[in-house]
Amino acid sequence: DRVNITEFIESTIDVHQLKHPDFKLSYEVTDLTHFTTDPVLLGSLFDNLLENAYKYSQPDKKQMHITARLIKDKIVLRFKDAGIGIPASEINNIFKKFYRIQNQYNQAGSVGLGLAFCKELVNFMKGEISVRSVVNKGTEFKIVLPYIQ
Ligand code: ATP
Ligand code: MG
Repeated sequence: DRVNITEFIESTIDVHQLKHPDFKLSYEVTDLTHFTTDPVLLGSLFDNLLENAYKYSQPDKKQMHITARLIKDKIVLRFKDAGIGIPASEINNIFKKFYRIQNQYNQAGSVGLGLAFCKELVNFMKGEISVRSVVNKGTEFKIVLPYIQ
């Protein structure tokens, strides 16, 4: 499908804000209007990263800024939160199946599959996912996908 990225992000944000009225979401799209992708797979990626940002942020810091940009022949998506962060010693583990960091934000019903699934999805889409994080400051996930017009 040919996805209008601005409309896609806006409707994704709307859904998450309905679910969590205290979730502050913003976005910026640069040098890009449409690209060809599977919107269901893309939606799963967004939903997992947004849910994590909400869950793993302090009550007064539930926010995420999403950016989408075309850089040469790649789509670069960034998802930046202001949450609890991920210790450097754990950063290589978070994409593993069933891996969860022990902290007070662990919730019943979470199993530790979200990011493992995201990584599989991104691989399937021939892209890459990476993460940078500072404890108590926040986390940024970056997804690079091939640009198919
Ligand atoms: P599930 O997604 O299956 O409901 P989960 O959210 O615990 O469970 P993942 O989404 O795979 O599992 O994330 C793995 C772990 O990485 C989480 O348990 C959490 O500790 C940490 N984590 C993920 N996203 C963030 C984030 N944005 N900020 C801080 N920690 C995070
Ligand atoms: Mg998760």
